[in-house]
Amino acid sequence: MSTIFEKIIAREIPAHIVYEDDLVISFLDISQTTTGHTLVCPKKAYASINDIPEDLLAHTIKVVKKIALACEKAFNVEGLNILSNNGAIAGQTVFHFHFHVIPRYVENDVLFKLTNRMNEVSSDEYKKRALLIKEAL
Ligand code: AMP
Repeated sequence: MSTIFEKIIAREIPAHIVYEDDLVISFLDISQTTTGHTLVCPKKAYASINDIPEDLLAHTIKVVKKIALACEKAFNVEGLNILSNNGAIAGQTVFHFHFHVIPRYVENDVLFKLTNRMNEVSSDEYKKRALLIKEAL
């Protein structure tokens, strides 16, 4: 089933496209969480970061940087969040891999904060978690 982004890429539905090349497209996120909130996605649909080929991912992140710099130039940006939701549990709603570029202007203009749980994690548990990741590489 084709995603809404494929419809944008095929010009079947409108979008405010700011950049495209053979492999990647970038357009304003309809939600405009903050001014200039932009999405960057490969034209070919991959559901998540686990599926996208590395060379295409590398090109996509280069375009993310291009868009981030353009937002800094275009708006009075104080900072940026670059994020990608992968999986429904992580908040992904469109299953066509993409990055969000979210310009930040004032404190709390986007309401998410990473919870600090360091007081709940023992030093053995840190070691165990790191080992599990290293072993899985
Ligand atoms: P995610 O929830 O990380 O999968 O991001 C999907 C994003 O796509 C959301 O932030 C939506 O606001 C955005 N979106 C959905 N439909 C459109 C559309 N037609 N044009 C632009 N952005 C869209």
